Formats: sequence, structure tokens, C-alpha cells
Amino acid sequence: MRPEILVSEVGPRDGLQSIDRIMPTEQKKAWIAAEAAAGVCEIEVGSFVPPKLLPQMADTAEIVEFACTIPGLAVAVLVPNLRGAEAAIKSGAHKITLPLSVSESHSLANLRRTHDQVIEDARAIAALIDDQPEGKRPHFEGSLSTVFGCTLEGAIPLPQILSLAERLMQAGCDEVGLSDTTGYADPLAVRAMIRAVRGAVGVKALTGIHLHNTRGLGLANVLAALDEGLDTIDSSLGGIGGCPFAPGASGNIVTEDLVFMLQAMGLQTGIDLQKLLEVRKILAEGLPGEPLYGFTPDAGLPLGFVPEDQEKIKEAAK
Ligand code: ZN
Repeated sequence: MRPEILVSEVGPRDGLQSIDRIMPTEQKKAWIAAEAAAGVCEIEVGSFVPPKLLPQMADTAEIVEFACTIPGLAVAVLVPNLRGAEAAIKSGAHKITLPLSVSESHSLANLRRTHDQVIEDARAIAALIDDQPEGKRPHFEGSLSTVFGCTLEGAIPLPQILSLAERLMQAGCDEVGLSDTTGYADPLAVRAMIRAVRGAVGVKALTGIHLHNTRGLGLANVLAALDEGLDTIDSSLGGIGGCPFAPGASGNIVTEDLVFMLQAMGLQTGIDLQKLLEVRKILAEGLPGEPLYGFTPDAGLPLGFVPEDQEKIKEAAK
């Protein structure tokens, strides 16, 4: 069953691709299995990019096949283009995300693609998905990246962003997502962007957001997104990751801190926080010397903490 708030773990993709050290395949599998066992029900497990570009992701097909054997887990992957999508569909992934950087300079630097080329890819991927037998069609998201600003172009004009969101939906995406690739977002900007994009493509076409903690505003931005009614939040265990193509961008939202905040607010995540904190050990073993972030893992849970405490929520609402 889908939880009230879907915490979508992106560490095995966004986290690992920005770290030079390569995590062994078996350790990736152990991480994914343990996090799923802790109740995380969607994990972005890898990216179908050429191994020459990102050797950390070379085992993505094997990881997807493994992850698909875990009951109840939605297995998500990132694809840079049609070729990646073909590999993703072959591997059996349940969800495919195609990033489209709303900054054309960033798109050229990151994917070597103009906006028109990415939209063309989106159309071809949607057609390929349609050709699959029923029950084998992955969910297809077009992710608007650098949507809160780009290190090359700064702020991107809103009409350009809205037009790209509309074009992605017209090309056949099931939904669009917002991605703060550079960590430029603030709560006010998050609210305004969600309203504007939903105004352009409809409420149902935007449910999720990918935020970074680059300037310490990660959870504040999550709160703004929740207030606007989004229910899917990306995060990364130990806060590893960032974007290797956005200089200076580092640190995804820490899954452990995010889950703590959601549960303290009485929101249902389906995650066992104590078990989730244990998963960090696998990460520490698999990436020796790599810094892991997060406050909750160091501080521990407050005395008497009751996750998703409905009594407390009722009391607070009086
Ligand atoms: Zn990211």
C-alpha cells in the first residue's frame, strides 16, 4: 500500500554517481534490500548511462533485476536518453525518469542535448513504453532539473520552464517532477514553482520533488512542498550525493532526518526509523572514508518518541 508520504530513496543513483569510489555490486544489493526491509517502498537504484561516463553505474541492469525480486518495492532508474530507456525497459524497471534541464546550457553540458532533442527523446520513450504489453509499462517521469536556477545561466525565465513542462506532458510523460539540482531553492521559491507548474500541467501531473541540502534549506524546502500538497520526496541515505555536473552542488536531503521530521509531524511513511538508521552501517562499510551526513543518526531519537503519534497531532490541532 502506498504510504501517505512516499520517501523515494535516490542514494544508490544520485549518491553513488557523484562519488568516485565504486561501491561493489553485492554491497549495493545489501543496501537496497535492507532499506526496502526498513519499509522504504521506492528506490532509484541506478542510471543507464554509458559505463565510460559513470563507471559507478555500470552494474545498473544487474541491480534492477535484483531489486525487482524484492516484494512491494518500486524500482526506479534514471535514463539520459532513448538508448538508456531501452535498457531500462529491458531490465524490468518500474519507473523511468528522464531529466530535462530547463537551462539549455546545462542541458548541453550535462546530456549534450538541446531542449528539442530531449523532448524528441521523451516522445520516443513514451512510444516505446506504449508498445510494451500491459503490466510491463513503466511509469514515465520527465524531471525538470535546475528548475530553481543554474550555475551557468542563473535563474531561468518562468515561461520557459512552464513551456518545457507542457511539452514533456504532450510528449507522453505520465508526470513531471521538480529537481533542485544546484541547491538554489528556498521555501518561497518552492511554493511559487509548484503552483506555477501545476497551473500549467495540472495538479495530478506534479506530485514529487528532488531537493538538495546544499545551503542547509533542504528540510525547510520539503515543508514548503508538503504544504503545497506534494507527496513524493526524494532523499538519500546519509545525505550522500549531489550532482557531478553542477560544480559546488553537494548533499541530497538526508533520508534519516526527513523520515524523522515526517514521523514527528504524524505523517505516515511506512518506514521503521530504527531499522533505517541501521542501514547506515552497510553504507559506511561499502564506502569507507566517505563522509555520511545527518543529525538524527548522531543525536538519536528523542526520549519517548512515538512515530506518527496521532494523539499528539490531535492535541496540537486544538
Ligand atoms: Zn540530485
